Amino acid sequence: RDSCVSDSSDSVISSGSDSDGQIYKVVLLGEHGVGKSTLARIFGGVEDTLDYEDAGNTYDRSIIVDEEEANILLYDVWEQDNSQWLKDQCMRMGDAYIIVYSVTDKSSFEKASELRIQLRRARQSENIPIILVGNKTDLVRSREVSVDEGSACAVVFDCKFIETSASLHHNVRTLFEGIVRQIRLRRDSKEE
Ligand code: GDP
Ligand code: MG
Repeated sequence: RDSCVSDSSDSVISSGSDSDGQIYKVVLLGEHGVGKSTLARIFGGVEDTLDYEDAGNTYDRSIIVDEEEANILLYDVWEQDNSQWLKDQCMRMGDAYIIVYSVTDKSSFEKASELRIQLRRARQSENIPIILVGNKTDLVRSREVSVDEGSACAVVFDCKFIETSASLHHNVRTLFEGIVRQIRLRRDSKEE
């Protein structure tokens, strides 16, 4: 068991145009070094072999999930600067959140819980889709956070959970499909 997000898929990631015109803002949160930018670059289709430090980027892509196109604006801006303004802005603007920690770094896992609590405080009555992501599963020998700890945390915080390896591209597509499905579930239940 390495994922609580459904992994049935035959979807294609492509840059394309709107279907329903709706653009969903997805915000990446998490401590420095956990792999946010690497995940974002894979999503954005910019897979440089070069390991560069980027200040902050936004990726605009359309992804087909369950035969329906979704337009995603992915914000990798959490660490763009240290201003409280930016942090507040990030907490406010997302339609959905991806909170990343590294399975090789316990303190990043604890930080993820903190972020979840902050998010809850900022968006009290809203039921926003959140996926908790344990990244770097390829680093088997340096693992400090077990799958069970990760998924138990997600249960407590009422969010989805998945483990990924951005380096191996493992579960990365499933992660982004999962966020789209979560957004749609909320959207569809609002429409009823
Ligand atoms: P950020 O600070 O959260 O944006 O993290 P980065 O995406 O910049 O990644 C930090 C470092 O971890 C970089 O050297 C990445 O190459 C590395 N990294 C990211 N994801 C993985 C992964 O899944 N496995 C391994 N082994 N390294 C990773
Ligand atoms: Mg980064």
